Amino acid sequence: FKVPAIDNEPMRSYAPGSSERKGLVEALAQMEKELPFEVPCIVNGKEVKTGKLAKQPMPATHAKHLCTYHEADQATVASAIEGALAAKAEWEAMPWNDRAAIFLKAADLVSGKYRYKLMAATMLGQGKNAWQAEIDAAAELSDFFRFGVKYVEELYSQQPIKNAPGSWNRVEYRPLEGFVLAVSPFNFTAIGGNLPGTPALVGNVVLWKPSPAATYSNYLVYKILEEAGLPAGVIQFVPGPPEDVVGQAISHPEFASLHFTGSTFVFKKLWKDIAANLDKYRSYPRIVGETGGKNFHLVHPSAEIKNAVNQSVRGAFEYQGQKCSALSRLYVASSVWNNGFKEQLLAEVAKLKVGPPTDFTNFVGPVIGRPAFDKITGYIKKAKDAGGEILIGGGADDSVGYFVQPTVILTQDPKSVTMVEEIFGPVLTVYVYEDADYEKVLDLIDTSTSYALTGSIFASDRKALVHATNRLRNAAGNVYYNEKCTGAVVGQQPFGGARASGTNDKAGSISIFYRFVSARSIKENF
Ligand code: GLU
Repeated sequence: FKVPAIDNEPMRSYAPGSSERKGLVEALAQMEKELPFEVPCIVNGKEVKTGKLAKQPMPATHAKHLCTYHEADQATVASAIEGALAAKAEWEAMPWNDRAAIFLKAADLVSGKYRYKLMAATMLGQGKNAWQAEIDAAAELSDFFRFGVKYVEELYSQQPIKNAPGSWNRVEYRPLEGFVLAVSPFNFTAIGGNLPGTPALVGNVVLWKPSPAATYSNYLVYKILEEAGLPAGVIQFVPGPPEDVVGQAISHPEFASLHFTGSTFVFKKLWKDIAANLDKYRSYPRIVGETGGKNFHLVHPSAEIKNAVNQSVRGAFEYQGQKCSALSRLYVASSVWNNGFKEQLLAEVAKLKVGPPTDFTNFVGPVIGRPAFDKITGYIKKAKDAGGEILIGGGADDSVGYFVQPTVILTQDPKSVTMVEEIFGPVLTVYVYEDADYEKVLDLIDTSTSYALTGSIFASDRKALVHATNRLRNAAGNVYYNEKCTGAVVGQQPFGGARASGTNDKAGSISIFYRFVSARSIKENF
C-alpha cells in the first residue's frame, strides 16, 4: 500500500473578522473560563495522580496559572517503563499501515478539531502570539506527523540494490531494543509531539518527559494521539522534575535512546551521565539532541536594505527570541549601516508592541518565566557594563507578567558577551564591520561561538552568497539566503546543527528516522 499524498498544512491568516479569528478567540475564552486544569501522568493509558503537585504558570500574568499537574514519582516512572516494555511487542508487530493511520489521523485532529484549543494552550501557557502558535501547534505539529509517515514509508522501502543470482537480500528496519526517552522543550508544542512521535512511528515505545512550562499543551497532544488510536503504553506521559524522571530513566538497563531538545548544558550533562551508565545497557544508546544556538545574519555591502531589516526584526523578535534558531548576532557592513539600515532597523523595532498574546495587536509577548526573565535582563546589564550601547529597548517589567522590551545593542567588540553567549530572549546585538574587513568577519562568525545552528546571508551579489556559504561550511546546519534564520518548514528545510547545537540529525527529514531503528540484513538463497 502507499500512504496518501501529503502536503504542508496551509497557514490561516487570523485577520480581524475571519472565521479562524473567531474560532481562536472562542477557544481562548473557553480555556480562560475553565482554567486551571488538572493534568495527571498517563501510564498504560490510565491517569495516575501522584499527589505530588506542581503548577504551570501563565507567563503573561502572575494572577493565574494554566494547570496543576501531578509529577511522576519513582514508582510511577518505574511502572511507566515496565508498561512501555510490555506494550512493545504488540506495537512493533502492528502492520505499518495501522501505525501510519494513527499518526495521519492525529495530524487531522491537530489541524482540524483541536486546532484552536491547542493554539490557545500554547498562547496562554507558552506565551506565543496567534501567528506563532499557528506556525507551531497547528502547522508544524501536523506536518511532523504527516511527513513522518511519508519518511518512514520511504525508509522501509530502502533496500539493497544488488542481489547475486539465485539469492535475495532484504533489510529490515526494526525498532530499538528497549525504550526511548523523549525530553521535550517549552518553546514548541510541535517539538513536544515530535520527540516521542518520531521514535514511536518506527515502532519504538517511549517515555515522554515534557517541559514543565509546556505541560498542558503537551498533555493535549498526548490526548490527541490517544483519540487517534495510539495503544496504551506506547507513549507514557510522565511530567516531573527533570533530575528525577530523567535520572531514573537513564539508569534503567532497558534504556535504548535519548531524543532531546533543550539546552546545551543539560544535554552534555545527560550524555556524561549516560556514559557513566554504559555498562548497564545492552546496546550503545542512540543519543539524538538539538540544543543551543547563537545564530547570525551577515549583511554584505550588496544587500537589499529593507528586506535585510525586516527579516532581522522578525528573526530576532518573533516569539521573543525564544526559538533555538532565533537571530541574536547581526554583522552589518558599515556602508549599509550608514546608508539607512540603522534608521530603518530602529524604526521597525519601535513599532513592535509588547504585551499579552491574547491581545492580537501585540507582536512581542512575555518570556517564559522567572529564570528566563532574570537571565535576559542580566545579559542586557552585562552588555551595558561592558560598554555596549543600547540603541533601543533595554527595559523590562515583571509586575504583571514577564515582559522584556525588544532590545538592540550596538557593540564595538565582536567577541563581547552578548555576541557569543546564548541569551534566548528578545535581545539582538549588532556589530558593524568595515567593508574592507569582510573576510575577517567571515572568520569571526565561524570561530567566535561554540554553536552552529542557523545563519543567513544577505547579498544581492550571487558570488558573495556562494563565497560566504563556502567559508562558513561548518558554522550553521541551516543556511538561508536573503531570508531570516528561523522558521524551517518540515519537508522543506530539514532542521538541526552541529558543534554545540546538537547531533545534527535533522528534524523534519528522513535522516532522523535512521537513528531510531536497528537494521537487520537477511540473505536467502533459492
Ligand atoms: N525549527 C524551528 C525554526 O526553524 C526552531 C526549533 C527550535 O527552536 O528548536 O525556527
